[in-house]
Amino acid sequence: MKIGILGGGQLARMLMLAGYPLGLEFVVLDPAPDACASQIAETIRTEYDDRDGLKQLAARSSCVTFEFENVPDTSIQILAERLPVFPPAQALRVAQDRLTEKTLFRRLGIPTPGFKAVNGLQDLEIAVAELGLPIILKTRRLGYDGKGQFRIESMDQIAAAFESIGQVPLIAEQFIDFQREVSIIAVRGQSGETRYYPLSENTHRNGILSLSICRPGDSEQSVAEEHILRILNHLEYVGILALELFERDGVLLANEIAPRVHNSGHWTIEGAEISQFENHIRAVAGLPLGSTAAKGYSAMVNFVGELPDRKKLLALDEIHFHDYAKTPRVNRKVGHATVNAREPRRLSEAVEKIFQISSARSESSIKGSTER
Ligand code: AMP
Repeated sequence: MKIGILGGGQLARMLMLAGYPLGLEFVVLDPAPDACASQIAETIRTEYDDRDGLKQLAARSSCVTFEFENVPDTSIQILAERLPVFPPAQALRVAQDRLTEKTLFRRLGIPTPGFKAVNGLQDLEIAVAELGLPIILKTRRLGYDGKGQFRIESMDQIAAAFESIGQVPLIAEQFIDFQREVSIIAVRGQSGETRYYPLSENTHRNGILSLSICRPGDSEQSVAEEHILRILNHLEYVGILALELFERDGVLLANEIAPRVHNSGHWTIEGAEISQFENHIRAVAGLPLGSTAAKGYSAMVNFVGELPDRKKLLALDEIHFHDYAKTPRVNRKVGHATVNAREPRRLSEAVEKIFQISSARSESSIKGSTER
């Protein structure tokens, strides 16, 4: 059985690394000549909306999945006419538009920050009047890692915020003064069976995920499971789905979904019985799902911009290192490290050591780039 993957980045690479031991084969479609998944799979090098490329992918695969949510609608149509595509197209459509996404949360009874569609300056003024300040103005489509966002703190910033973000459909959201950000990752198989990973608590730096910590037994686990189950069933979902939430005063508010394997679930490679990557592959291939139980406490540190000193990092006991084989670039995720521990204190100490090694590297490189 050969699985086609749209996108050849690190997520595709980790999907394949999980799928090969199951006896599966892969083919990737990605326009980038240096797509890091190409090192370990046959690659079709065309744009994501290239008809011939998509037809080739369909001809060579038994089913297709994707590693990013901004797949053009027409591409999914071309593929879906020819072979099964998982997760389903309706999940992509929801995830591609923040307004559709938040409207769905509301319809399904999942708490979400107050929001309003903004199609002009007047809408924004009404949104501020209704939702209060601060608010976050976001592009409805194509935003990720905090891109395409503007936080408005005071009335005199309204016009400038609107100008800077551009003439595209927008959404204004209540700013949530959350205590923490968490995500729940779940997998749903073709029979409708659903399994959940333990919650991960996430910390961002400059809008990019920096640290995820999984402590099994989180008090919000069952509420998060109820929320994501509603979405999975509504979308007749197949594969891994991530739901990002803010926790404020004991209430979880849904921020967004990702219809794919998720960065906050990388810890599952070494920290869970069966990783998010393997369970996604199992789901799309129609195989039985595996256990989502955590083996203990886990943490994942992202390496953004460039990798830390490999020798220093590997000299730390029990660190799992992942180098995505990507060219270093500002704000680019180039690798991560995972550590597992039986008790939280050991976990924190290990994370601290990883940060010491990696921030030493990034501070010097930031200095270097400003000097250049
Ligand atoms: P997003 O692209 O929606 O995931 O936003 C990126 C990050 O911005 C989130 O992980 C939060 O840290 C922050 N953020 C987004 N929306 C809100 C909000 N409504 N209130 C507070 N912080 C937010």
